[in-house]
Amino acid sequence: MIELLTPTQLDEMRPAGRFVGSVLSALEDAADVGVDLLDLDALAHEMIRKEGAESCYIDYHPSFGAMPFGKVLCTSVNDAVLHGLPHKYKLRDGDLLSLDFAVSVDKWVCDSALSVIVGTPREEDVRLIAHAQEALDAAIATARPGNRIGDISAAIGAVGRSHGLKVNTQFGGHGVGRTMHGDPHVPNDGRPGRGLTLKPGLVIAIEPWFLHTTDEIRMDEDGWTIRSADGSRGAHVEHTIAITDGDPIVMTARN
Ligand code: MG
Repeated sequence: MIELLTPTQLDEMRPAGRFVGSVLSALEDAADVGVDLLDLDALAHEMIRKEGAESCYIDYHPSFGAMPFGKVLCTSVNDAVLHGLPHKYKLRDGDLLSLDFAVSVDKWVCDSALSVIVGTPREEDVRLIAHAQEALDAAIATARPGNRIGDISAAIGAVGRSHGLKVNTQFGGHGVGRTMHGDPHVPNDGRPGRGLTLKPGLVIAIEPWFLHTTDEIRMDEDGWTIRSADGSRGAHVEHTIAITDGDPIVMTARN
């Protein structure tokens, strides 16, 4: 069932979105050469404790996961792009790091992701992140009442293809609110004018991710981390947004 939230409920959700944004900002600042992925997870965990928030990841065990996730943050480095399980690894100069984070605050869940370059950037990585961000911006601009999920999907796919990228649709966005993953599914490519009609109160996470030279992925031996099939790097950005009568609310906007 797809729940449409009232304006009051959307207001209740805002602290969760603000908190998720603030944690990702802190992690982005902390991600530096020599910093261990486990230190980033620990920092996020400490912020969760102080806030009295609840991690959506730590006990998460969906059908595609080999075991409960056990961490509060996804850290995907270089050719890893989604669901990266934090492990002992010190970030190196030039690494492309994607961070994905979801918690509930006062029972409302928000979910967001960003990609950042550690140390000296490679130009193609800067471009890849910009393309993912451009797709997210285009998708959010499409998220208005009367449009459909397919319009959002098509906006993402069109941006990817305009930059010569192949777009994988195995993992995409999703409904979010009382739980981390709900209906509707929001694929990262699709046909305009198809799918669920957007209505005020619908809350979804939109999450374009692109790989440099492939749309094929493989699962890491850890049972979670998803990598490009050809070793090329990936970028992933995500916001939780609410459809309103006017402009969408970007719940997880960062300062
Ligand atoms: Mg996410």
